Amino acid sequence: MGSCAAHAASSRGARVLLLERFDLLHHLGSSHGASRTIRDAYPKPQYPPMVSLARRLWHDAEAESGCRVLTPAPQLSLGPRGNTALMSTIKNAAGAEEVADLTQRWGGAFRVPPGDGWVAAVSERGGGVLNATKAVAMFQALAAKKGAVVTDNTEVVDIIRKRRPAGEQGGGVVVRTSSGEEFRAAKCVVTVGAWTSKLVRSVSGVDLPVQPLHTTVMYWRIKPGKERDLAADSGFPTFSCYGDPHLYGTPALELPGLVKINYDGGPPCDPDRRDWAASDDEVAQRVARWIEEVMPDHVDTAGGPVVRQPCMYSMTPDKDFVIDFIGGEFGEDVVVGAGFSGHGFKMGPAVGTILAEMAIDGKGRTAEAAGIELGHFRINRFDGNPMGNAKDH
Ligand SMILES: Cc1cc2nc3c(=O)[nH]c(=O)nc-3n(C[C@H](O)[C@H](O)[C@H](O)COP(=O)(O)OP(=O)(O)OC[C@H]3O[C@@H](n4cnc5c(N)ncnc54)[C@H](O)[C@@H]3O)c2cc1C
Repeated sequence: MGSCAAHAASSRGARVLLLERFDLLHHLGSSHGASRTIRDAYPKPQYPPMVSLARRLWHDAEAESGCRVLTPAPQLSLGPRGNTALMSTIKNAAGAEEVADLTQRWGGAFRVPPGDGWVAAVSERGGGVLNATKAVAMFQALAAKKGAVVTDNTEVVDIIRKRRPAGEQGGGVVVRTSSGEEFRAAKCVVTVGAWTSKLVRSVSGVDLPVQPLHTTVMYWRIKPGKERDLAADSGFPTFSCYGDPHLYGTPALELPGLVKINYDGGPPCDPDRRDWAASDDEVAQRVARWIEEVMPDHVDTAGGPVVRQPCMYSMTPDKDFVIDFIGGEFGEDVVVGAGFSGHGFKMGPAVGTILAEMAIDGKGRTAEAAGIELGHFRINRFDGNPMGNAKDH
């Protein structure tokens, strides 16, 4: 989100400094790895317009950079017909069509569990797989080309209001780092992922309920002879299976002979004290049971997942993003983008543009023009009800 915001702001001619705490393209946050789904199949109506804007901006960035980061794929939403989030998703996804006989599609990769009244719908429009690390690199390179200074191994520890003489408006901010450097700026955009609650609380006293979760990316072996059926260039979809467990997957693409199928969630964690040795076996077993029921002919569960990669979600109580001014003494000089709740990557360029416009213009004009209700993402929705209402995103 920070790299996209830096690109959007530098595209507007702003002088931009992007500060990253670790090495560029590190694996310690939420945006590393080779695949993220982009889909407009969403249960909440606030998201499809943001996906449409993001999709346009992904294509613009690909054209500008000459990089290819988006591999097109249809999106399959499936699960029990009684699942309200699934039914809303199918309603909200433009052009989604129910798949009459799921077992005949994609070489018979999916089986419908008997008796549960399952429904499956496919939307063909504009979905696909984003190469995450490559995409972050693309936005950092584009931002740098437009004059942004991209600096890594620089941890921000404080943001301080720059005082102006009485009577004068504004004042900007001073950003202080762990090595004692100070940077002065008119505006500051905070996109620190799983570290948001800690930094925002210590800087402003605002308590943002953004809970980091430890989650695991799992790759499973495709059964011999079935590799073509699950391949992205054969038209195999990205998919989300609603219900319990909530799972998602992407077509075989980045690791030959393997397919990514993951559980959507994980246990709470402290981003500064992660238990790298934590066992994910229970989650792996849940995913394996689902595979044995729904994709038994195509995916091998013997021995568990072949590759496991740790990652973090930053959850809000309602799984909706936070895109807002921090307020208080900072007024509209500090904007925060956080709580992307395991579904933010696809929105990166849209969120980056919105954050940059909020910082530069005081409002997100592009979001308004795209029909995105920014009011939905305000911090004050947590007032008096910090735990919010958990709903499917
Ligand atoms: C396994 C997994 C699968 C996912 N699948 C999808 C998907 O299919 N589709 C989708 O749309 N989304 C998906 N997501 C969610 C998506 O990846 C995240 O919402 C998104 O990457 C969040 O980006 P971010 O910029 O908020 O956080 P990050 O990428 O973690 O960026 C925050 C950055 O801030 C830096 N930082 C922290 N503190 C400081 C500080 N004090 N000073 C300087 N820098 C600091 C961190 O080092 C980090 O680089 C998935 C996430 C995971 C983990």
